[in-house]
Amino acid sequence: MPIVLKSKAEIVLMREAGRIVARVHEALREMIRPGVTTAELNVKADQIIRAHGAIPAFLGYPHTGKNDFPASICTSINEEIVHGIPSRKRWLEPGDIISIDVGSVYRGWVGDSAWTYAVDVIDDEGRRLMEATEGSLWAGIRQARVGKRLADISEAIETCVKQRGFAVVREYTGHGVGRKMHEEPQVLNYVPDKGGRGPRLQVGMTFALEPMVNVGTWRTRTLADGWTVVTADGKRSAHFEHTLAVTDGEPEILTVL
Ligand code: MG
Ligand code: MG
Repeated sequence: MPIVLKSKAEIVLMREAGRIVARVHEALREMIRPGVTTAELNVKADQIIRAHGAIPAFLGYPHTGKNDFPASICTSINEEIVHGIPSRKRWLEPGDIISIDVGSVYRGWVGDSAWTYAVDVIDDEGRRLMEATEGSLWAGIRQARVGKRLADISEAIETCVKQRGFAVVREYTGHGVGRKMHEEPQVLNYVPDKGGRGPRLQVGMTFALEPMVNVGTWRTRTLADGWTVVTADGKRSAHFEHTLAVTDGEPEILTVL
């Protein structure tokens, strides 16, 4: 499958999809406090997405051999890495970190962004984990320029994480994004031992970069609900994601207000 390049007009629509996702994050950030349930966050997100004429990209997302994703956002707390399912029985507690992943489809175009939030006061390790993960996202974004290769993004993310003593998740990756949430190419958050440097980046490529970073092992397992991915050792994980477009200058982040 080739990498689909987007025209300026298409990126205008992706910018709208991204802005809706950013509005959801803006609203949910204000709701983060002890006692709030992840189901309440989901309801708010769904309302905002639909109020802007978009639909939630994750709701009903198919999973081979499993149930479709049952909610409009993913909420992944502490040792949960990604794809946590919002629940009326799961409320935030002081010291938690929660990754909220939001996707919208606006006039057929997708925006995708995740952010990790601290609930009340978190410990020093949690703060360092969040800083390392967000820092690695920005390091990756800085490489998203014409003339670079895909692996330059992966390498920047991995280097940033390793320098801080944490581990990058390997089984889940960033991705191309456009009319579909997951398009070519896969954007690894590490450089594999074998393989080349990947394609050269071109104007009109659009990626969702999303490092998932663990305190301990990079290994993961999936819970019995078929979706929730957790760290194999039960230690915490953080996740930051933006959708961006490669331009003839600085990369343009699309999931912003
Ligand atoms: Mg996402
Ligand atoms: Mg994504």
